[in-house]
Amino acid sequence: MFDDSVQVHCKRCRSNFRDRARRLQAGYSRQCPNCEVIIFFEETSSDKHVQTALRAARRLRRVLRESEDVKPAAKQAPTYDRTSS
Ligand SMILES: [Zn+2]
Repeated sequence: MFDDSVQVHCKRCRSNFRDRARRLQAGYSRQCPNCEVIIFFEETSSDKHVQTALRAARRLRRVLRESEDVKPAAKQAPTYDRTSS
């Protein structure tokens, strides 16, 4: 498994923390673990750190989706040739 979280920068306490890319999308909000301010993730946010995190999460979700599409091929049941017997 690889890291499916993206870095979020809190502009209030200037700390960084990580959150799951699957959750981090427009309309999502979460509390900074350091200063407990609520950060709202909106495409229209004036906070460029929010924009950056949203972009990174969107990109990572696409990668995750693509990696899920590549499933190992189902093991094929062995077939026996009965015509020769
Ligand atoms: Zn903070």
